[in-house]
Amino acid sequence: MSSVLDKASVCVSCVTKPCQMGCPFRNDITSFIRDVKSKNYKHAYEILCQTTVLPSVCGRVCPYDKQCQGACVKGVSYDAVRIGEIEAFLGDMAIDEGWPIGRREDLKRDKRVAIVGGGPAGLVCAAFLARNGIRPVIYEKHDYLGGILYHGIPEFRLPKDILKKTIDKILELGVDVELGMSLGRDISLEELEKRYDAIFLGIGGNVSSMMHIPGEDLVGVYGGNELLESGVHPDYTGKSVVVSGGGNVAMDVSRTVKRLGASHVYVIYRRGEKEMPATQSEIADAKSDGVEILFQHNILKIDGIRNVRGVEVIKTELVKKEGEARLSPVNIEGSNYHIPCDYVMMAIGSQVDDEVVSQLGLERNSRGKIKIDPDGRTSKENIFAGGDLTPTPGTVAFAGRSGRDAAFSILEYLDKKKTS
Ligand SMILES: Cc1cc2nc3c(=O)[nH]c(=O)nc-3n(C[C@H](O)[C@H](O)[C@H](O)COP(=O)(O)OP(=O)(O)OC[C@H]3O[C@@H](n4cnc5c(N)ncnc54)[C@H](O)[C@@H]3O)c2cc1C
Repeated sequence: MSSVLDKASVCVSCVTKPCQMGCPFRNDITSFIRDVKSKNYKHAYEILCQTTVLPSVCGRVCPYDKQCQGACVKGVSYDAVRIGEIEAFLGDMAIDEGWPIGRREDLKRDKRVAIVGGGPAGLVCAAFLARNGIRPVIYEKHDYLGGILYHGIPEFRLPKDILKKTIDKILELGVDVELGMSLGRDISLEELEKRYDAIFLGIGGNVSSMMHIPGEDLVGVYGGNELLESGVHPDYTGKSVVVSGGGNVAMDVSRTVKRLGASHVYVIYRRGEKEMPATQSEIADAKSDGVEILFQHNILKIDGIRNVRGVEVIKTELVKKEGEARLSPVNIEGSNYHIPCDYVMMAIGSQVDDEVVSQLGLERNSRGKIKIDPDGRTSKENIFAGGDLTPTPGTVAFAGRSGRDAAFSILEYLDKKKTS
């Protein structure tokens, strides 16, 4: 295993900084790596903290090959700089050394801001508000913070103690928390509007999409997102499980289920390995955990009488359709066959909680997400939003970035309100 200095030495500090443009947070990667090279770790960490508050998290879970590392010029002919691992090293060192995650500015604003949802969007928004003299309050429906970082991404990818220490650092900036408070059940948006000058909504979108195929109502069919969020699993010992999907959720569900004792886990994905949304390393890890991925396969129906007994699958070929950027899977007639299984997990995508979001009275897009402008403003001037609740790309760093952008919009809005 190479040391952090070996990893940093690969960086050629290019002037154009394509890695920074590939990073949703726009972290100044070449500058912090330059400090790592000269062992000025604390300063390297301070550079990171200018733009992010999640280094130990993003360093572990970001799809770097599609973000910063994917843009690294060294990746063209050699291996790209392992930016994620260097970032995690600095984040972990800051936790061990007790370095603060940025500085709270003295500037005090006597305005009240509520943040609903304690996932990455809400946490980052809270941190940047707190750093700028606001003491925000996070309202979170669960009795813990972190959102999908806590209840979606499994321990074997993101250790809970690292997450907890990262969140503690954010709270130390001066953030209050109301746990067990669900918007739409324990508190309404109108009540929040009466109590606060501005509100940030970051309640995510963790409701599994279904395939709408026959058999989905059988006992033994689960939504992958809800399964991971609740953490309540059936006994998989000696059972076969089929997971439908090809992204993060499919990988995390399949690996979790395999580790919980399932004898056989199949992932069914309509396209090929190259097209799979999960990262190369996640695919490799799933395979090495013993998960069998059936590429270019589609599920036609789920078989069973009361309980799931299997799935009927069909092979697909990939064709280029006019006007579509991605190759489209088309079922190959007559290639159907039956796979016996006991459980089917849907991991084909997720959506917002319509019951809650429809009550908010905010403009939504065709997928039901809350519309925002590039700075996180919704259709109501005092309400801001970000993360998976909105059309922001569904990754941790993009959710965090949207929280940060919204924090600056909220500050601007509060300053204008003060002077008007
Ligand atoms: C299983 C899984 C694995 C993933 N893996 C990765 C990965 O490896 N890398 C990556 O970059 N992205 C990954 N993602 C995507 C990423 O986690 C999300 O895009 C990101 O967490 C979205 O952040 P958010 O704050 O908008 O929402 P969330 O993380 O969902 O947080 C929303 C918060 O709001 C709370 N909440 C919900 N409703 C209410 C309510 N009514 N009242 C109060 N609080 C409420 C929730 O409890 C939660 O704490 C993964 C997603 C899943 C599901």
